[in-house]
Amino acid sequence: MHEVSLCEHLMGLLEDEARRHAFHRVKRIRLAVGRFACVDPDALRFAFDVVRRNTLAGEAEVEIDQPPGLVWCSDCAREVEVPTRVSPCPDCGGLALIPRGGDELRLIELEVA
Ligand SMILES: [Zn+2]
Repeated sequence: MHEVSLCEHLMGLLEDEARRHAFHRVKRIRLAVGRFACVDPDALRFAFDVVRRNTLAGEAEVEIDQPPGLVWCSDCAREVEVPTRVSPCPDCGGLALIPRGGDELRLIELEVA
């Protein structure tokens, strides 16, 4: 399952941060998972609950944001929001779209003790 490797990657990031900033416990984690990241937030949460057991993030509260999928429409010459990777531009129906975001998995906030 792809969520598990993402969570292992995330734990690696947390451990690096813990070393760099000398903290021992994570109280809250906020993640951003883009609409196009092909990650199901519930599956991610579930996988993370398994991976973080007995770690510095074992008791942390986890929040998952889902930023919208953004693309650049060449016909409208502006950024528009689309629900899926294959959706046409909501304004002009065009398909000449360039992805601008929405496939990221990022750690956006960390509250530590
Ligand atoms: Zn358009």
